[in-house]
Amino acid sequence: MGLFPTTRTAHPKTKPADDQLTFGRVLTDHMFLMNYEAGKGWFDPRIVPYGPLPLDPATSVLHYGQAIFDGLKAFRGDDGRIRLFRAQRHAERFNRSAQIMSMPELPVDIIRQSFDALVAVDADWVPRLAGTALYLRPTIIATDVMLGVSPSQTYLYFLILSPVGSYYKEGVKPVRILASDRHVRAVKGGTGEAKTAANYAASLAGQQDAARAGYTQVLYLDGVHRKHLDEVGTMNIMVRIGDEVITPPLAGTILDGITRNSALQLMRDWGLTVTERVITIDEVMTAGRNGTLREMWGTGTAAVVSPVGTLGYKGEDIVINDGATGEVTQRLYDAIVHLHYGRSNDPHNWMTLVS
Ligand SMILES: *Cc1c(COP(=O)(O)O)cnc(C)c1O
Repeated sequence: MGLFPTTRTAHPKTKPADDQLTFGRVLTDHMFLMNYEAGKGWFDPRIVPYGPLPLDPATSVLHYGQAIFDGLKAFRGDDGRIRLFRAQRHAERFNRSAQIMSMPELPVDIIRQSFDALVAVDADWVPRLAGTALYLRPTIIATDVMLGVSPSQTYLYFLILSPVGSYYKEGVKPVRILASDRHVRAVKGGTGEAKTAANYAASLAGQQDAARAGYTQVLYLDGVHRKHLDEVGTMNIMVRIGDEVITPPLAGTILDGITRNSALQLMRDWGLTVTERVITIDEVMTAGRNGTLREMWGTGTAAVVSPVGTLGYKGEDIVINDGATGEVTQRLYDAIVHLHYGRSNDPHNWMTLVS
């Protein structure tokens, strides 16, 4: 704190009770802003009361979607102290998204200082109930007022915070996912590796189709062969066939998930056989039919891990592990959650103290 000019709100909001929190509907009292101009660089970092942004209707982000974001969480540990999970890697990925979208990078130190400073100002907003967290949403938008299609010369970085409830209020619950043979999320050479607004706009129709068919989420297959597992809408995917855990490689179409990376590291620490390789939907369905598909789960900041109880594809449903949470899935969930709340030692230094 003290690093950035800070204007405190004169009208603090009433905080919801921790057991009433959901995801992303309540925002805290303050936000961090910083501007960019080509030739000048980033300037005017500041913490101000949370509120609307004035935007001209011709602002380029509103038309051409030049926007990136990231998402990470701060946790109030059992010892009362507040910790961020893998802030450095989130800051680095934010810059990777910026590169892909022809946007200016931010110095990683400034990104991290903005996380720490804003969470410290709104520290009372970090909930206390088990399973809750404060979600951080760093974002950059293109702010040129101009209708031509070209990279903006001006940008706004903002960071906003939202207290979020426990994803699993009634324990970890397996989901039903649909491998889509209709919708594609990304192709090589496109924007699949970036956390950019358009990827999510493009995923809504597939999501609605899956919901209509009785599934919670879509499992996207690659755009060329429509065969290789890519990822779920906001999660990376992992399968356990026999004694091998398999996850699709980072080859330009999927997000380099930080939960994915953490899960791979932990499983390797535990001595499990973990392979990053192309895996086809036919291989997974065959393993499902012959009983060697032991577990399947998604990884992401929101849920940590999300066990897949049912996988649907071309009208066939495969029930995995009798629809229950698998052993490795549960072990990953427990290990990561213990780190979040400062309950276990942290050999990879993933947690950083905010206050
Ligand atoms: C955010 C996201 C993930 C998960 O990434 P984490 O860093 O683990 O939160 C996976 N896939 C997509 C498309 C995402 O947007």
